[in-house]
Amino acid sequence: MSDIIQLLPDHVANQIAAGEVVQRPASVVKELLENAIDANATEIKLIVKDAGKTLVQVIDNGKGMSVTDARLSFERHATSKIRAAEDLFQLNTKGFRGEALASIAAIAHVELKTKLDRDDLGTVLVIEGSEVKSQDVSVTPTGTSVSVKHLFFNIPARRNFLKSDTVELRHITDEFHRVALAHPNIAFAFYHNGSDLFNVPQENYRQRVVHIFGTKTNEKLVPVEEETEVLKISGFVGKPEYSKKTKSEQYFFVNQRFIKSPYLNHAIKSAFEGLLKDGYHPSYFLNLTVDPKSIDINIHPTKTEIKFDDEHTLYAILRSAVKHSLGQFNIAPILDFEQQSSFDTPYDYKDKSAAAPSIEVDRSFNPFSNDSPERSAKPSYNNGGFKSAPAASWESLYVGLESKGNNSPSDFSEVTFESDPKNESIFSDSTIETTKTTFQLQQKYIVSTIKSGMLVIDQNRAHQRILYENFLKHITIQEATSQQLLFPLQLHYTPSETKIIEDLKANLEHTGFVFSELNTDGIVITGVPVGVPESEVSIILEQLISDVENDVPDTNFSASDLLAKSMAKSLAIKNGQSLNSTEQEHMVNSLFACKEPNVSPTNRPTFITMAVDDIEKKFM
Ligand code: ADP
Ligand code: MG
Repeated sequence: MSDIIQLLPDHVANQIAAGEVVQRPASVVKELLENAIDANATEIKLIVKDAGKTLVQVIDNGKGMSVTDARLSFERHATSKIRAAEDLFQLNTKGFRGEALASIAAIAHVELKTKLDRDDLGTVLVIEGSEVKSQDVSVTPTGTSVSVKHLFFNIPARRNFLKSDTVELRHITDEFHRVALAHPNIAFAFYHNGSDLFNVPQENYRQRVVHIFGTKTNEKLVPVEEETEVLKISGFVGKPEYSKKTKSEQYFFVNQRFIKSPYLNHAIKSAFEGLLKDGYHPSYFLNLTVDPKSIDINIHPTKTEIKFDDEHTLYAILRSAVKHSLGQFNIAPILDFEQQSSFDTPYDYKDKSAAAPSIEVDRSFNPFSNDSPERSAKPSYNNGGFKSAPAASWESLYVGLESKGNNSPSDFSEVTFESDPKNESIFSDSTIETTKTTFQLQQKYIVSTIKSGMLVIDQNRAHQRILYENFLKHITIQEATSQQLLFPLQLHYTPSETKIIEDLKANLEHTGFVFSELNTDGIVITGVPVGVPESEVSIILEQLISDVENDVPDTNFSASDLLAKSMAKSLAIKNGQSLNSTEQEHMVNSLFACKEPNVSPTNRPTFITMAVDDIEKKFM
């Protein structure tokens, strides 16, 4: 048989490679803007027609190119930015592959005009589908202009694949924002179909953020500044009350390059802990400066990931810098005498205890209603060394207090409880107490009396503990009841997000989820765990995805744990929700029927006690 392998002709190879770099008009915008920045331009104009399908043009006042360089710039792997492999480890430029212009020229009509400052005349070069059509001398200002017309003219499949103008323009605008935010010292103008969308002068960072996101943004910015040996941070976070339901205002720049990092994002989220409503995301515009040697950006031209040498340290510094700023600018709650320092008050509730709760709750969802008799009657929480439910709960309460060392155990050993597990309140020992009361404080705490004094329970954390143990039990013993949805629920996710759900599918099914479809662009759910309102499903899953992204579970056990924690977090009764007295009592009972009632699933205290002795001391 004859040989069958052939080398592809250059233009075909170029087209294939181009597909990697240029996915849509926004990719062209990004590459051209970055080239202009690398050329040290101080003014850059972006002109776009029909969302880039007809024209993308970038004009800069940078250093320009010589006649030879103009021609060479379109060769694959032609770059002025690195010379040897070592240079890759100390990049100060955006580009370094020398691929962009070659790729763009392979799949579009390109006109390049460029002139060096020292020359009187410049060069104009026309290339269509990698073929040089003409090269002439031209009168043109110092700097470079690249126009890209008829993108994908020779790849109809690609062209047809482009989305509507609205969507493509959205992508272009996103790229423009990223570049413009990273370089406030450069003036940018952006025109679309003749109208000007942005026109920003050279300015400082705050002005740039405000110019791009609107004047209202100004009041919401909290400065973050920190400088350590390994990392310099500067920029802004948004005040918690301006947090958004989408992640659209989250910008990290590392050495002036836009990056995405779920890990560092988590650092910020955790700095905001207790200040954000569930399902809301903080805004941030942060510039990180690190030694170029300590990062690796050589991953993929279109990717925004980055590898850091020491992510853990960056995480810690970033988190504390943001926390510090939030505290310094009085965003964090002020501790007052009513409040234990171990509790975080969500910002939303600060100074507005009487206001209507701003969190929407599904009124029909009563987590106590259907499992109430079952839970108190069932001895299933008695394993793990506990003798009987009330005794066990009491023991663990006692253990927790003992370890804190703020009460002597004898205070509690005198307390007796009714042993009938059907009794609604384990604290209502009629022989000792004449009143059986719980009440709610600031729709946040459940206060109850015990013989030695007072018990204050954090309702959200307590409920998280209760739900967590319940979910964990379902997952591990694999019996759960599911409620069928009237209409299947379709949710869209990115392939990597879908993968996360897929990995947890078995565990999710054990809690009561039923999936009818799981494919690359999302999932279809037909059943949900009993008690989970349909409206909460997408929040639960989104929470779960982000929890997994930030804390990748490596064993099935930790995956179950994470799932249980995540669902408990999503579904637990929030602060701000009022509970009637039955619900309050039930919360107390359920909490002390847990194996570990003292702490929330994330290891925060669920309650505190105050002994009468201590109260008496306060009156002295
Ligand atoms: P890279 O940016 O990775 O080097 P490109 O294909 O984007 O590769 O560009 C190739 C080369 O062309 C660059 O290294 C640079 O020397 C030159 N060049 C491209 N755009 C400009 C510009 N706007 N001004 C000056 N030189 C440019
Ligand atoms: Mg480039």
